[in-house]
Amino acid sequence: MKFTKIEKTRQKLRNGYNKIVRQNINGFKDFNDFTDWYHSQGKSCYYCGLKEIECQEIVMTGLLTSKRFPQNGLIGRGQGRGVWLEVNRLNPLNIYERDNCVLSCYFCSNDKSDVFSGDQYIAFFQNRVDFLRGLLNENGEN
Ligand SMILES: [Zn+2]
Repeated sequence: MKFTKIEKTRQKLRNGYNKIVRQNINGFKDFNDFTDWYHSQGKSCYYCGLKEIECQEIVMTGLLTSKRFPQNGLIGRGQGRGVWLEVNRLNPLNIYERDNCVLSCYFCSNDKSDVFSGDQYIAFFQNRVDFLRGLLNENGEN
């Protein structure tokens, strides 16, 4: 399938910003502060390094499929995951603010969820079972 990159629109950024404002978890000064931060970020995943354009091609052309991804190259409601990098909180318990935000691909964002801090996720990403067993060892159960 032919692929042409779709840029994230200002309206989509606005929708994302409004959502964190509504949820009362925004620490950016205002929308301009948020977009300044967003545009200052490299467009590759903080965790794995996948480029936005690579992730977008994978989901837009159906190399991997999910009901959350565009269907046949069309982005329907609730089917936009993977098209653009996502704003991800290093510490998921803290608010969205410059020092706590990175851009992440869908795959890392979905995998990290609200389970791991950024540092924990990097360790988990490198060796899942060692990281998980390490938690048990720290807890003195092994
Ligand atoms: Zn990633």
